[in-house]
Amino acid sequence: MEDYLEQIFQLIQGKGYARVVDIAERLGISQASVTNMIKRMDTEGLVIHEKYRGLTLSERGEEVARYIVRRHEILKRLLDMFGIDGETVHRDVEGMEHHISSPTLKALDGLVRLLESEPELVERARRLSEG
Ligand code: MN
Repeated sequence: MEDYLEQIFQLIQGKGYARVVDIAERLGISQASVTNMIKRMDTEGLVIHEKYRGLTLSERGEEVARYIVRRHEILKRLLDMFGIDGETVHRDVEGMEHHISSPTLKALDGLVRLLESEPELVERARRLSEG
């Protein structure tokens, strides 16, 4: 469900609403699977159906989606600093983000912000990681 919210949020940022066909394409799954998940999200009050347009997020849905997008960004910023190739970063972030708790994310957010303000620390960490 987190991946759905992430994609719906990004589609809405782009054109104001999200259509089932676009969500299915972005996630690489069938429209039937998307429709099923959206029913669940509707039951949980996360999405709103806009007639003739598509889906938008409820206030709660948007709150959850913002957290998910922010979590992705913090993890990506951390890994990007170490010069890891983009495809690996993407794959790792997509895996890590579903397992990380909010206290751990908070800790990493602090660490990322420290490292971004002290590039020489990043250099030292990179050298240590390279043995
Ligand atoms: Mn993600």
